[in-house]
Amino acid sequence: GLATSARRKIGLIPADGIGKEVIPAAQQVIEAVLPSRFSFIHLDCGFEHFQKTGVALPPDTVKQLREECAGALFGSVSSPSHKVAGYSSPIVALRKQLDLYANVRPVASPIGGTGKPIDMVIVRENTECLYIKSERITDTPNGKVAFADRQISEHASRRIGRMAFSLAAQRLAHRRKTAKAGAAAAPPTAKVTIVHKSNVLSITDGLFRESVRASQQDDARFAEVEVEEQLVDSMVYRMFREPEVFDVAVAPNLYGDIISDGAAALVGSLGVVGSANVGDDFVIGEPVHGSAPDIAGRGIANPIASIRSAALLLARIGEPEAAARIDAAVDAVLAKNDLRVLTPDLGGKGTTAGVTDSIIKGL
Ligand code: ATP
Ligand code: MG
Repeated sequence: GLATSARRKIGLIPADGIGKEVIPAAQQVIEAVLPSRFSFIHLDCGFEHFQKTGVALPPDTVKQLREECAGALFGSVSSPSHKVAGYSSPIVALRKQLDLYANVRPVASPIGGTGKPIDMVIVRENTECLYIKSERITDTPNGKVAFADRQISEHASRRIGRMAFSLAAQRLAHRRKTAKAGAAAAPPTAKVTIVHKSNVLSITDGLFRESVRASQQDDARFAEVEVEEQLVDSMVYRMFREPEVFDVAVAPNLYGDIISDGAAALVGSLGVVGSANVGDDFVIGEPVHGSAPDIAGRGIANPIASIRSAALLLARIGEPEAAARIDAAVDAVLAKNDLRVLTPDLGGKGTTAGVTDSIIKGL
């Protein structure tokens, strides 16, 4: 599996815009925390590559990822505002070809919007739901009517459930390890919140929630994780009112898309939120933000989202301690709130290089 992978190469896919600035920053941090543990290969992909060559995702990129890499870091792709013939999103294609069926997005802040620490992870199913893009439109005497099919399968729901429970079990183990011995505080717990709308969509969302619940039986380590359910509308409400009550939330593709962008707003800039596209045998770290054409090339993009994504990548390829060190160094830089260091998206006057250096010094 991933954790014991003999492949010690990391693929770097900066792609477009600020991806070319923030991915090298994340690479520097990996090299600083684990000197010469990994070698790196640079791989082509993206809209700019498409404009040069007519190909957005070269087959060679996929082949090298599959055959040589333990995992990869992806920057960001520009999405052209108009439809361009022959172009489709290479990250969507990558997820499909490498079967990266989960999008894992930690949303954490020592001082969340409501003043209490937020520490949740959103696990979004990434292969089905409305995103199968099966739409059609028909003319009727009363005008056009459009339909979209929504696919929810037992298989996909159960494996995303396993991903959520396994993260929760890891968090529980970590909390137990770091809990102060003899302290009077309540014993650590972990919780999975299943997000759905089965009061309305009883068949599709009903299958999702049943399958996620059933996945708790798939591993003995999952038994101690608490489970709760939240209808997606009240999930949004509660997430904004009291985000600190959530731990791991698991959702079908569309709800997951919406709540994870909403959750990013709770912790400040898009420039600090990382994610990982995860499958059973591959992982690609990816900042949540896009290619930010408005600031590309100016050396002021915030590298933290990519550095956090690098930590997520390392945690999944057998380097959880290095990942924790990176996160701690990032937290320290954020907590210090030195506006000479932080980038303009966080109200600072700093640069990509300056933030990266501060994080590396803090390792
Ligand atoms: P795309 O089509 O690639 O998504 P976009 O114009 O939607 O491009 P985003 O990358 O989604 O741009 O960013 C939205 C806003 O957030 C932009 O103003 C951008 O400058 C800012 N932003 C995004 N990422 C960062 C970052 N890492 N550092 C600083 N600002 C950022
Ligand atoms: Mg965008």
